[in-house]
Amino acid sequence: MRDYDLLTRRIEALASNSARVDTMTCADGYPVLRVSVASRVPAPTVLLIGGTHGDEPAGVEACLTVLEHDLAAWHRHFGFEVVPCLNPFGYVHNTRHNARNVDINWTYDDKSVPEVDGMKRLLRGQRFSFALDFHEDWESPGYYLYELRRNAPVMGRAVIHAVSTVCPINRKRAIDGWTAAGGLIAPDPEREVERRGAGLPLVLFFDHTDHLMTSESPSGLAMDIRVAAHRTALQTVLRHHLRHRRANQTEQA
Ligand SMILES: [Zn+2]
Repeated sequence: MRDYDLLTRRIEALASNSARVDTMTCADGYPVLRVSVASRVPAPTVLLIGGTHGDEPAGVEACLTVLEHDLAAWHRHFGFEVVPCLNPFGYVHNTRHNARNVDINWTYDDKSVPEVDGMKRLLRGQRFSFALDFHEDWESPGYYLYELRRNAPVMGRAVIHAVSTVCPINRKRAIDGWTAAGGLIAPDPEREVERRGAGLPLVLFFDHTDHLMTSESPSGLAMDIRVAAHRTALQTVLRHHLRHRRANQTEQA
């Protein structure tokens, strides 16, 4: 069993002048925490999610490590909403599903899922520059990335290239039922709706962001490598979005 108290103490220790920690919902006895990091000047907000599936702990650790070490360099340019551990029961018990045996990622229309309720409250009226959802794959020999975008800069390849310096890449031509190229999957959102129904990733992409990425680390590798893969992905996306924004501003000036 993993120690959720230890995790909540780490999250609560992040509260500061610029970071607020709130309980966004209580799920079967476990508080689900969110961390809101204000940007120093008005700036687009980024959404980071970890631990939707409880047996994918590297995403949780990546969110925490990013909050503890990486965001100081970025909160001049972006605000952040971070849900480090969306599925505390699953995290503690190492299960994909929550205490009600529900896959939080694919039950957005179900009104009896407290973790999803919390996400709905967080998302209400929000639009994100991009959303990065940290997951893991037990069957994958290497890292891969799902990318959905409209009017957003192309950067999946840059992410894969950057991650390849810290973690092997899954270069199979088919991953999880999708065609893949060099570790990159661009799923068809309409087909995904047919295949899996309303899920958090699709709601994010349809209603809350033009750029959604699901970062998948290979569970078989050491934790520090998996965390490094997710952190590297985030750094690359932040750099590209900032560059893209500056280029647009120059164009408009
Ligand atoms: Zn997952």
